[in-house]
Amino acid sequence: MGQPRILSGMRPTGPLHLGHLTGALDNWVGLQDSYECYWTIVDWHALTTDYADPSAIRENILEVAVDWLAAGLDPKRAALFVQSDVKEHAELHLLLSMVIPVPWLERVPTYKEQQQNITDKDLSTYGFLGYPLLQTADIIIYKADAVPVGEDQAPHIELSREIVRRFNNFYGPVFPEPKTLLTPTPRMPGTDGRKMSKSYGNAIYLKEPPETIREKLRPMVTDPARKRRTDPGDPDECPVFDLHRAFSSVATQEWSAHGCRTAGIGCIECKMKLADHLIERLAKIHERRPEYASRPDTVWDVLREGAKKARETARATMEDVRTAMKIRYA
Ligand code: SF4
Repeated sequence: MGQPRILSGMRPTGPLHLGHLTGALDNWVGLQDSYECYWTIVDWHALTTDYADPSAIRENILEVAVDWLAAGLDPKRAALFVQSDVKEHAELHLLLSMVIPVPWLERVPTYKEQQQNITDKDLSTYGFLGYPLLQTADIIIYKADAVPVGEDQAPHIELSREIVRRFNNFYGPVFPEPKTLLTPTPRMPGTDGRKMSKSYGNAIYLKEPPETIREKLRPMVTDPARKRRTDPGDPDECPVFDLHRAFSSVATQEWSAHGCRTAGIGCIECKMKLADHLIERLAKIHERRPEYASRPDTVWDVLREGAKKARETARATMEDVRTAMKIRYA
């Protein structure tokens, strides 16, 4: 028996930041040793919200792919590809849409939540409602055994399992139920203390040069109790310390926590020590990135090759699906 198969994806939102690294990429790189991996850039998902202006998607796909390669995703061991290069995802999405009741999609918590939060776009579209179904098609078309996700995505995988059960119930056991491979996602605040996100303008990007990292960390919000240098603080109340937890050595974390509680160190000193660790952590990515960024054609080739491999698997699955649904006529 071959290695168990996993799939995960990212939207092409542009350059990746520290949240992507600790929440996904670090784990993905490690998983490549023990799983047959499919990593996909889900451009059709980007259209579910950005359909009115898709002009940035192409460039964003490239940025994501360059960051993936620089972070250590290995096209020799995994299929790295763009979702829309494997049209079979769309066919399976369509077929699933015949089978799945609309209320199943309407009750997905992020559906209502995002409609309320994203007010500058009309999200009352069919595509936006069907997004979890497309996500399910992305996963099960590879008969993935598991999906590495953070806790916030776990309900979506549960829905995929329900969808698989319903499909298999009608047509026979075509798909395995994908398991959730829960990956630890450390708290990753941005420079303003909110969750790190491109849309908040508070992100530190993987490609950022050392001096920009220092510039961004310098004004980062801290424990509000430390108004003056002489005020003691609490590292558990400080977003900077969350980053220390993710990137600094244990010795530095102890130094920072003690210095903070006793007002023995200043916040700038604490942040610059964090910057040292962060820059060291990103050094390999910085070393590899220019090589890929300067050769976009090579990166597109990698994605094309990945799509070839993915397509083979997806096509075989669609044969099974068409046979099971009795829509294979000749
Ligand atoms: S000393 Fe460090 S941990 Fe303490 S408040 Fe300042 S930046 Fe945060």
